[in-house]
Amino acid sequence: PARPIYAEQLPAGLQTISNIVAVSSCKGGVGKSTVAVNLAYTLADMGARVGIFDADVYGPSLPTMVSPENRLLVMNPEKKTIIPTEYLGVKLISFGFAGQGRAIMRGPMVSGVINQLLTTTEWGELDYLIIDMPPGTGDIQLTLCQVVPLTAAVIVTTPQKLSFIDVAKGVRMFSKLKVPCVAVVENMCHFDADGKRYYPFGRGSGSQVVQQFGIPHLFDLPIRPTLSASGDSGMPEVVADPQGEVSKIFQNLGVCV
Ligand code: ADP
Repeated sequence: PARPIYAEQLPAGLQTISNIVAVSSCKGGVGKSTVAVNLAYTLADMGARVGIFDADVYGPSLPTMVSPENRLLVMNPEKKTIIPTEYLGVKLISFGFAGQGRAIMRGPMVSGVINQLLTTTEWGELDYLIIDMPPGTGDIQLTLCQVVPLTAAVIVTTPQKLSFIDVAKGVRMFSKLKVPCVAVVENMCHFDADGKRYYPFGRGSGSQVVQQFGIPHLFDLPIRPTLSASGDSGMPEVVADPQGEVSKIFQNLGVCV
């Protein structure tokens, strides 16, 4: 259900967005961007107007995961605003579209650049803005969460890294900011081969997380070669295979946010 954001709380650039959802992880490489992008395209497929903000300054993955025709952000010189690029109807902003190499910046500078890029973008009317957060729960993440009134957060983790300390850090940050953590995605939880299901990183920790942290939804996302291949090919798996198992998982997640 949509939770209203009150206009006076919002930076000008974000006033036409109904829901802002953070996709967050404590560590890099757990599949946060994969979840953010597939969630965004699932919501778009459900009929929503969607944007993705890739806030990962040091390792932007959005340019690999989608293939917009225009790979550079355009500036509106009169209004001094940034016009997002677009792929299959979803508006996109990433440092990877900013025309520079990997950024070399210190924390406070990164925060400033992220906030500026986010709030000076001409998003237009959006039902959902999905923010692919930089990994971790440090100052950059905290500042971002303070500037943007998030309506929901999704935490991505993997079974072997699903230590309570890690997930707790994420939950604590969002609860301090009064942002509801609506779901945990336990990524790479299992794979099927030779008619059997394997749990390479162990199992069972997910339900404990739900109980201990009171998070209403837990989603298991399997290891799928197609998920990795689609991430590299520039077409999200939910677009390439809308009837598949992965798409169904994202449709259920889409309903939660
Ligand atoms: P993060 O944003 O947390 O750094 P990514 O979403 O970029 O992680 O994922 C890291 C790599 O793992 C990518 O190459 C991605 O395609 C791959 N990957 C993520 N989730 C899965 C999965 N469930 N099955 C197979 N490959 C995956």
